[in-house]
Amino acid sequence: MLLETIVILVLSCVCLFVVPLSVRQALSLRAERQLVRGLRADLIEQRRNHDFFRLAAEHSKDGLVIQAMDATVLWANPAYCRLMGLPLDAIIGRNPLEYALPPEDRPSADEIARFRYREDAPEAKELQLFRNMRANGEIFWNQINLSFRKLATGDEYAILVCRDVTSQIAQEKRLEEVREQLAHEATHDTLTGLANRMALIRFVRSALAQGAHGKSRVGLLHVDLDRFKEINDTHGHSAGDSTLSHVASVLKDGVRSGDLVARVGGDEFVVACPGIGSLDDLQSIADALIAAVVVPFTWNDRVLACEASIGAAISDPGMTDPEDLLLRSDFALYDAKRAGRNRTALYDEGLHQRRIARNRRAVELADAIDMEELEHRFQPLFDMSTGKVCGFETLVRWNHPEDGLVAPDDFLPIAAELGLMGEVDLASMAAALRMRKALSQAGGPPMTLSFNASPSLLMHPQFINRLIFGIEAAGIPREQIAIEVLETTILGDIEDCRSPAAVIRDLHDAGFQVILDDFGIGYAGLAHLAQLAVTGVKIDQSLIRDILRRDTTAKIVGTIIELCSDLGLRVVAEGVESAAFADRLSALGCDIVQGYWVAQPLAAEDVPEWLAQRAAPVRLVSNS
Ligand code: C2E
Ligand code: CA
Ligand code: CA
Repeated sequence: MLLETIVILVLSCVCLFVVPLSVRQALSLRAERQLVRGLRADLIEQRRNHDFFRLAAEHSKDGLVIQAMDATVLWANPAYCRLMGLPLDAIIGRNPLEYALPPEDRPSADEIARFRYREDAPEAKELQLFRNMRANGEIFWNQINLSFRKLATGDEYAILVCRDVTSQIAQEKRLEEVREQLAHEATHDTLTGLANRMALIRFVRSALAQGAHGKSRVGLLHVDLDRFKEINDTHGHSAGDSTLSHVASVLKDGVRSGDLVARVGGDEFVVACPGIGSLDDLQSIADALIAAVVVPFTWNDRVLACEASIGAAISDPGMTDPEDLLLRSDFALYDAKRAGRNRTALYDEGLHQRRIARNRRAVELADAIDMEELEHRFQPLFDMSTGKVCGFETLVRWNHPEDGLVAPDDFLPIAAELGLMGEVDLASMAAALRMRKALSQAGGPPMTLSFNASPSLLMHPQFINRLIFGIEAAGIPREQIAIEVLETTILGDIEDCRSPAAVIRDLHDAGFQVILDDFGIGYAGLAHLAQLAVTGVKIDQSLIRDILRRDTTAKIVGTIIELCSDLGLRVVAEGVESAAFADRLSALGCDIVQGYWVAQPLAAEDVPEWLAQRAAPVRLVSNS
């Protein structure tokens, strides 16, 4: 090629200097000159292309190889030599199968000898990835782009473009790991490693679909730890976390293979049991789980224990929506909790209806509280020593538009669940203050008006303000207001000034009466009664009921009365239904009684008339 170029250049120079010329000669000479000029341009162009090809082949970062159809290397560029870590002469004339593969992947000499490329082989159609080895033993990923070329002579060649993609593969692998991790996190709970709600729903949906045609059904156990909050509050959050992990493994160990355990909330788990025959089978699994959960375990040298309530539900034939089944197990769980925890409750249609009715009630009650529609009754306290009424207790009622008067025991638990106990009690307190004011305005004698105070009332941000404002606005002396509390309220942490116990102490110190309600059935031993910030006790009706039948009960009540009197506490007996009880109590030293014998709880408007009838002291008559 170089030679040809030189020849043409020399030729063209020679033509330029030929003289003298005729016109004709001159014309043809010009045509020749143009021809030569064209030829020269073509040659220069070819030369340039050739140089470019070389430049590309020698400096390409990709390895380029030309092979015969038996894979013998005919030509390779420097990048390919670098890729293989071999000099060109160790490559030319050899089959890469001999030197490019790690020993464990290398075919036998016989197989290598028999190797032939097939033009229609799938590897010719797309990029191929090979695990290769350099001469120094380093493993790398070789991405090969293979193509074939047949020349006019009939000779056929394989052309390979090779690229080291090891780092891309590593990166891709890392990405894949991250993707897997993300997918795992999306379907699993990080603390316990259990499936999460999303994975549970997916599992139950497919279990329902699989069981759709057969007899087998899907069972769900909705597990909720009892008093988990106490563990968290007492031992700290890491104890709480360990408890959850412990329960997770207990549940996993306790279920059948093929069941799925998921964590669906703070201390809530769901066990999905596909292929379950009946509710009884499900109940046995649930009972075994409860028994396993209650076994105490050690955490940081401390022994921790928790209990669980379980709601169990089983799918109906044709059920497809996992949420329907979850709702059922949730209903049942609610029932288990209400029935006293640490037990299993099974879902049935009646449960569903009761729950719906209860929800409806809750909405109606919330409305009634909001609209200040709760009513109040006032039950008198009678002092047998003076024969006079000495006070009233305020008792709340809900006048339901269809069901009539509903007793507090039937709706206060709902109010508590709705978080509305504080509001209910504020209304009772207001009713007590109104009644106290009305009685003074009517010119009646001094009398104590009491109301029941739940811990929610004591913690209510408006409580103290409204109480103080209420008594001051109405000119009510503090000692004429009594706050009735349960022992559980008073036994809290008095050092914590935000506790109900501390609020009670402050009220006591401020001059209000504080009555320990339902006394004698709880834990407050007589021994530490003196330390409690109370002005009096109300002996529980269940004790009073027995004083005529049981001597021991009468003795207990007698002791309570004696001790409280010694301590200067006011003693009231409640649930006094007849004069016989009143006589006995009087004999035991208790003069203040409350109960149907004195009067049923009265509507506010009936109080003045009732009091007027009682204006004269009443004498005790044993046989009345
Ligand atoms: P409690 O404070 O022990 O109230 C006494 C309960 O005994 C009242 O029931 C009263 O009607 C009933 N009772 C009165 N005399 C007799 C009797 O001779 N025999 C019998 N068997 N029962 C009698 P009630 O009104 O149904 O209240 C039940 C409980 O509901 C109350 O028990 C109290 O713990 C709670 N409660 C009532 N009103 C309120 C309130 O406004 N706030 C709060 N936090 N609790 C309230
Ligand atoms: Ca009471
Ligand atoms: Ca009581």
